[in-house]
Formats: sequence, structure tokens, C-alpha cells
Amino acid sequence: MNPDLRFRSLAPWLKETFGQPVYRVALDAGSTCPNRDGTRGFGGCTYCDVEGSGTGALRTGKAVAEQLEAGLKRIARRGRGDQEVGAIAYLQSYSNTYGDSARLKELLGAVEPYLGDAVRCVSVATRPDCLQDEALRLLEHLSHRVPVWLELGLESANDEVLLNINRLHTLAEFDDAVQRAHQAGLSTVSHAILGLPGDGRQGARDTARAIARAGCAGVKVHHLMVLKKTQMAHDWHAGRLEVLDLETYLDWAADFIERLHPDQVVHRVTGEAPQEKLIAPQFGLHKTAIRVRLTEVLCNRGTRQGSAHIGEGGVSLPPQSASPLDIAPASDQQR
Ligand code: SF4
Repeated sequence: MNPDLRFRSLAPWLKETFGQPVYRVALDAGSTCPNRDGTRGFGGCTYCDVEGSGTGALRTGKAVAEQLEAGLKRIARRGRGDQEVGAIAYLQSYSNTYGDSARLKELLGAVEPYLGDAVRCVSVATRPDCLQDEALRLLEHLSHRVPVWLELGLESANDEVLLNINRLHTLAEFDDAVQRAHQAGLSTVSHAILGLPGDGRQGARDTARAIARAGCAGVKVHHLMVLKKTQMAHDWHAGRLEVLDLETYLDWAADFIERLHPDQVVHRVTGEAPQEKLIAPQFGLHKTAIRVRLTEVLCNRGTRQGSAHIGEGGVSLPPQSASPLDIAPASDQQR
């Protein structure tokens, strides 16, 4: 970590790892999740809107390959001069390993023609209780060609908090999914939300410790946001829900960062939602300004990522993936 930085942020790590700027292209595969179809629950997590925390791009009629094509064109414009940029194909919405593995195979098949120079990494978001062995094998197979990240929502390390927000999985299921993903050679990125009802400041600290203990390579953390068309929107309007103000969030996020392992890569330290969807809180600051403010809080405390880390464990990085230039023909890889 650059000693001037107070936490290990994603962009420099990507540049160092891939040798070029790499940007995420979010894809909406129109998947669903067991919290919505009744397998585990109905109605979804109380903070999740009808688009499953995703882009909603599928509703516009664009298939995954089309979304990816459009995203690649968009990020190509970010290259300076003749500098080329790479992409992370990010299957973001809902739980992408849930259900029939043939569907996941089809989704990965849509991304496959772009692997290599254009798509340098594939990232798949899912729930910890949706990682069937067959899905894991497909991702493991893909990881022989490009790095594969499995993004797992933990949100809180407190099972009671998870139950209250209708998340309906447990910390033990998260630990199990992370362990199995690591055994399969995948890299894991965990998600945490600070300020969930009943979680509190200690919850922020405990969740960071759980993520550090699990050895996830990456971490995304953000504050609780109340969005329209969610159960939390009802609670908010009924005065039954509070959200963090910016100063409190920064303090709790600093606590969180201090308890991570120093090697974990912090992908995100704040959340973003389209203004037309967001009810509260309204921080009124761009994500870059929030990162700067968080760095200031850590500077003022004289601390940094890992200052309060406890434990011996490390971070699980996947074995070196094959160079994208050495990719074997698709038919050999997709068996
Ligand atoms: S598990 Fe994910 S997609 Fe499903 S309801 Fe919760 S946040 Fe939404």
C-alpha cells in the first residue's frame, strides 16, 4: 500500500495487476433470487428495490452480450491517447449463480467471445446461500482463462440483523461460500452495509472483522440507502427507520477500514443510487469527495487499514490465471 494512502484502493491495484486501466461494465442478466421467489422468502431484502440492486438494463430489451458491447465502447472512450483500457464484465443484478446452472453457463457463454484483450476479468455477484457445486465448477473452469471474482453479499455479520432485514442467510453460510470459492481458485469480494437497523457501530466493527477473518481479497462497503419501491421506504415514511448522517458514516467506515486485513483491496467506500430512486440519506457529495473525507478521518486518528486488525490469517488470492493472450479455443475451455 502506498504509505500516503490510508487504505488499499481498487484503481491502483487494478493498474498494477493488469498493467492498464480497467473499468467495470455492469451487466443485468435478469436473474432472480431465493428471497423473491419464495424459496427462502418473499419480497426480497427490505432495502432492495425491484431491480435487485442492479442496472435494470435487461428491461430495456438489451441482452447481456449487447450490454457488454455497449459498455466496452463506453469505457474505450476513457483511454487517454492510444492507451487501451480493459473491462471487468460484472454480472451485477440479483443472484447470478441461483437456479439452473445451464443459465449461468449461458450467461458466461455470452461474455466468452470478449475474454482476453477486452474483458480482463469476470465478476459474478450472488448470495452466499446460492453457490451450488455445479455453478462453482463453471466459474472454476472460467478462472483458468481469466481471473474470476465471486462477489458475496454479507452485509452484516449479525444473524439477527440479517433476519430483520429479510436477508435470510447467515454468517456461517457466508463463511462456507467463501471457503468453497477459495478452494475452487476464485477470488472473493464481500459486500457490507453500515447502518442497518439494530447493527450499530459495533456491528460495523464486527462485520469488518468477519470479512478479514474470511480472507476475502476484496471488500465493498457503503452506508444504508433507502430507495423507492422498497420495504424500507415504507418504514422510512412511517418514521420507523433512521439512516446515518455523513459524519457518523465516516466514523463507522473508519472503524471498519481499521479492522480489515491490510492486504484486502477496498473496492468501494460509499454507495451510489440514481437521484430519482434515492430517498435518504442525501449526503450531497460525490463518491470521490467521500473517499477524501474518509482519508482525512483516518489521518486525524493516525490510523489506516489494518491498524486494528486482529488475527493471523491472510488474504486468499487466486492462483495466477493464464495470460489472456494464451487463451485456448473456447470449445476446449467450456467442457
Ligand atoms: S438477495 Fe440481493 S437481489 Fe435478492 S432481494 Fe436481497 S439484495 Fe435483492
